[in-house]
Amino acid sequence: MKIDLILKNIGQLVPCSGSDTPLKGAEMSAVDLLKNGAIAVNEGKIVALGDSVALTEKYAAEQIIDCAGKAVIPGFVDSHTHTVFGGDRVHEFEMRIQGASYMEIMSAGGGIVSTMRHTRAATEDELFEAALKRLDQMLALGTTTVEIKTGYGLNTDTELKMLRVIERLDKAHACTLIPTFLGAHTLPPEYKEDPNGYVDLIVDEMIPAVAEWYAQSHFSKDGVPLFVDVFTEDHAFDVAQSERVLLAGQALGMIPTIHSDQFNAFGGTQMAIGLGAISADHLDVSGSDEIAALASSNTIAVPLPAANFNLGHDIAAYPNGRAMIDAGCALALATDLNPGSAPCYSMPLVMAISNRIMRLTPAETLIASTINSAHACGMAQRVGSIEVGKAADLLILKAADWRHLSYFLGGNPVETVIKDGEVI
Ligand SMILES: [Zn+2]
Repeated sequence: MKIDLILKNIGQLVPCSGSDTPLKGAEMSAVDLLKNGAIAVNEGKIVALGDSVALTEKYAAEQIIDCAGKAVIPGFVDSHTHTVFGGDRVHEFEMRIQGASYMEIMSAGGGIVSTMRHTRAATEDELFEAALKRLDQMLALGTTTVEIKTGYGLNTDTELKMLRVIERLDKAHACTLIPTFLGAHTLPPEYKEDPNGYVDLIVDEMIPAVAEWYAQSHFSKDGVPLFVDVFTEDHAFDVAQSERVLLAGQALGMIPTIHSDQFNAFGGTQMAIGLGAISADHLDVSGSDEIAALASSNTIAVPLPAANFNLGHDIAAYPNGRAMIDAGCALALATDLNPGSAPCYSMPLVMAISNRIMRLTPAETLIASTINSAHACGMAQRVGSIEVGKAADLLILKAADWRHLSYFLGGNPVETVIKDGEVI
């Protein structure tokens, strides 16, 4: 049988299988390994994997890549990003390392509202071009699927503008994208004194408009889900307001997810679990109650340690990823790419931080960055592992031992990215 592509002589083929449900707790601690493996690809999908000699005898291929003993893993899935934004916040970064507090930065016009101003002012083309370059950097570092949130518009027009940009990016860029509506990211200045009025606007106007956009978008035609997200925190949205937003989205077919327990744990995580949220993200201050609730639910815990690293946090202020896995949670990792708290493109860097600070093993961080993060963006039936029928999103590493992903830090461990069967 003639097919498009074979990868042969793979020293360590690491499939990261587990498409039906996310891997939880101790299930994350071991990865299957196929030695001297090969992968057969046709029309962008994986058609077979197995022994290198047997597979190369069985299939004739248009293109053959000799991996020369190197390791091959699935493409990374980055399940939490804010990739579309106007401007940058390098000025704040400099203020912060010179000792300015969050409040001082806010009163100097910084924070999410500063990015909101730039995003409102930017044209659709400007947002598109800037985000396209960011996706190029992520892809070069091995990320082949990316969730992208709105949340820098904070009015109906700009939130819809961001969604149109995400749809254009998905058509133009090799990465597979998943959209999330995060109108409840923070309060826009015009609603500073009227938070419930802003929640009314989200529920009564934005969410119906977003649902209408989604119904016409190619995402809904392709069966890619739409998420509804909220930032549950002091100075953002309380639990009751957050629940209203998530329920309104859920009623129109969106899947709930949440930013919770970043600075204060006051019930957001438990509320989101109650709604069947796909994930709860950040979890920096989650305690044993929150962790136990996550462990006994289907909601995936998503620490975002690049944000802690970027903010210069003490080790004790990082999410307790080790306790989450030990308690039996399903855990996924993401960059949280955004212009303020996490200007980070690199899943390998997130893994390296997680290994060293949260004491996760290389196997746990690999599972958390591939199949579990595919579950966290509702795409586990298509991406996140090397299994027959899935997209051929494959990374040939520079090393023969896949654990070098976690061991070396600061470089790019990926030699070749293959997306939907195409060598990038
Ligand atoms: Zn975020």
